[in-house]
Amino acid sequence: MRSVPFRRGAVTPIHPRGGAVTNLLRHRRTAFAGGLSLLVLLVLLLPGCRLLDDRASPQPGGAPSSSPVGTEAPVASPSGSPAASPTPSPSPSDAARKVTLAAVGDVLIHSSIYKDAQVAGGGYEFTHMFEPIRRYIESADLAMVNQESVIGGEALGLSDYPRFNSPYEVGDTLKAVGFDIVNLANNHTLDRGEEAITNEIHYLNGLGLVYTGAYLSEDDRQRIRVVEKNGLTFAFLSYTYGTNGIPVPKGKPYLVNLIDNDRAAADIAAARKLADVVIVSAHFGVEYMDEPSEAQEQFARAAAEAGADIVIGHHPHVLQPMEWIETAFGRRTFVAYSLGNFIAAQDGARTQTGGILQLDIEKRGGTVTVSNPRFLPTWIHMTNWRQFRIVPLRDAGTDQLPNAAAFGKQVAALVGSRMPELTIVGD
Ligand SMILES: [Zn+2]
Repeated sequence: MRSVPFRRGAVTPIHPRGGAVTNLLRHRRTAFAGGLSLLVLLVLLLPGCRLLDDRASPQPGGAPSSSPVGTEAPVASPSGSPAASPTPSPSPSDAARKVTLAAVGDVLIHSSIYKDAQVAGGGYEFTHMFEPIRRYIESADLAMVNQESVIGGEALGLSDYPRFNSPYEVGDTLKAVGFDIVNLANNHTLDRGEEAITNEIHYLNGLGLVYTGAYLSEDDRQRIRVVEKNGLTFAFLSYTYGTNGIPVPKGKPYLVNLIDNDRAAADIAAARKLADVVIVSAHFGVEYMDEPSEAQEQFARAAAEAGADIVIGHHPHVLQPMEWIETAFGRRTFVAYSLGNFIAAQDGARTQTGGILQLDIEKRGGTVTVSNPRFLPTWIHMTNWRQFRIVPLRDAGTDQLPNAAAFGKQVAALVGSRMPELTIVGD
């Protein structure tokens, strides 16, 4: 299943080298000393996009909107709508430019999941597992995911913990259900070596998905990914705390972006010059901990002070709180410390719970605000390690989660413990 339906109308990705990565700005750090060296900016023309919450009024001060969203969200299917003429750009002075961003945690394809996805006659099909929550991804203007298990393809030999390798069809599903940006920097990036990473990147490129955190070359790493949407530009950076003790191949640090505060600060500063909004993926923390570690808080603070607008965390396999970090310069940065497992085969209520974060990002009169954080808790349905489905937590069913109502309250209390205005969708 290599051919997947493209939603949101036609996208015409152009890559400086003729590849299929959408919207790249070429960046050489050294070039910034003497001025910007911007080679290519591509504009995604995505007509017909629907925001999850079109009713939310702009919140110039970043004050939260109380509008609960999601359950009634219409899913526009703009495929086939004309993409030839650009959306007229309102002048920044008289209109807000608004983008809804969605983010989820780990897609970790254990063997029981790919076995469950096997299709008679060959190949794999994962999309139906995402179907129950698909509309929450599709209806966002931009959606990002952490691809925890490398998508090296079946020919390389599929594998499970501790060194994962997943079939290409996982990538097809990410594309089909509406993800745009795929984080590759995590502790499993090097599980199956350079070949798996290269395979994965080529495959995602072919799908027109933007990848961050693992790269083909140093040159590739130096190109900060910038995506334009609704007149706003977004730069994406990704880092991981480590690679499970697997050494990074000598001379090839670009294969996985390790956390290095100085480097991240320099990258973020460079990204700020390229884009309105800087989003950092951080694979960090201690597994199965409900609260962020000191290291997580310290990195999030450093990223915020360096100029990140949003920090999206993952790795602990469980949910952790979200919070605003007020920076020394009077800005504020949204942080989600861990979005938990989105799909994985880890038995237990906490590890079967993840969620879809949504944020509104607006630019008005030159000022960017991030507001209206909302979160749909999700549940990884499985029966005897089969019948995997990602469903809203509220739909988990008592056979899966006998005390679902009480557990849902605990989840809401945890993720919102540092952010009272967080809207829990589907309460
Ligand atoms: Zn991890």
